[in-house]
Amino acid sequence: MKEKYDYLIVGAGLFGATFAHLASTRHRRCLVIDKRNHIGGNIYCQQDNGINIHRYGAHIFHTSDKRIWDFVNSMVPFNRYTNSPVAVAPNGELYNLPFNMNTFYKIWGVKSPSEALQKLNEQRCEAIKKMETDGVKEPRNLEEQALTLIGRDVYELLIKGYTEKQWGRKCSDLPAFIIRRLPVRLTFDNNYFSDTYQGIPIGGYNKLVEKLLEGSDIQLDTDFFKDREHLSSLAHKIVFTGKIDEFFNYRFGMLEYRSVRFETETINNPNVQGCAVVNYISSDVPYTRIIEHKHFENFGDSVYENPVSVISREYPAEWNPGIEPFYPVNDQRNNSLNTRYQELAQKEPNVIFGGRLAEYRYYDMAPVIAKVFSLFESDTNL
Ligand code: UDP
Repeated sequence: MKEKYDYLIVGAGLFGATFAHLASTRHRRCLVIDKRNHIGGNIYCQQDNGINIHRYGAHIFHTSDKRIWDFVNSMVPFNRYTNSPVAVAPNGELYNLPFNMNTFYKIWGVKSPSEALQKLNEQRCEAIKKMETDGVKEPRNLEEQALTLIGRDVYELLIKGYTEKQWGRKCSDLPAFIIRRLPVRLTFDNNYFSDTYQGIPIGGYNKLVEKLLEGSDIQLDTDFFKDREHLSSLAHKIVFTGKIDEFFNYRFGMLEYRSVRFETETINNPNVQGCAVVNYISSDVPYTRIIEHKHFENFGDSVYENPVSVISREYPAEWNPGIEPFYPVNDQRNNSLNTRYQELAQKEPNVIFGGRLAEYRYYDMAPVIAKVFSLFESDTNL
């Protein structure tokens, strides 16, 4: 029997939708399925009081790759949103993120980059000396990485509590790369990202995903694992963007994920916190951050055009079957388990695995798109 589709794409998130788009431009027929009742995966936005709610957590698109930026903007124009979050420290004070001159001025009273650098270096040296005494060359974990990057004062004030709350693990048990996501700057620049381009699709992420999926057939409320054989028979190849361990029936055991529970509230106040993202560092506060969604798309006085605002508190949670997996926990145990699953994946000639869950990788959005591009560039038969 001739299959109706070239590709069965399992998961209508950014990886699946970008794949569907590039495949469609090559005149391939795609069926995109998702177990949720909507497209977009975790970048899906839900309208509430005229505001796009980032239902599965805040997503800010950023990249220095002009090709990726031009690509997403050719699907939908992006606005000029610049992420500049504020952190509420355990002492109740507000500090600017990422770590920059505004932060250092507030912590140490230093007014010039050279004063700040002197302070930073004193603290970094202490951490490096400690590592040398222990006979360690490279930071082995997030704590050592943070201490050598930014020193003890900032680590204890703005990193330790937040990180241990978010991950439910000690900083000394977490991989170092997580903290390298945050820039350290000796300028008065509160822009969280160092990338050249940044923004949010005008009208929300759904517009981007809808455009990417144009030309593909879409079937929602469809769980691949409930009808695996039949669904697989519909296409020559499968693009799988779900959990890699589930694809292989948890053969080697379960990978761990970190999850988040969102508590969303509409407030009778047009401007609750004055910016989209406020982080709460203290372990006494049960949530890690509060997102005020309208600030992603409304700037300046336009914030006041809507008399209400919608906020979401993010409560970090350990993942259990039945709840949404958000972050891979890339510690040693999980990484080596993942390597074994990826080896199995290599032996599946008719399945392409991709995205946060299938690669078990802490992916941002732009690298996901870049990954799909590279697949198509390296294989003209796709
Ligand atoms: N982080 C922190 N303090 C903050 C914000 C972030 O210590 O106020 C650390 C924390 O370990 C977190 C990591 O930086 O996991 C990456 O933060 P990012 O904002 O990139 O995380 P995401 O938006 O992906 O949840």
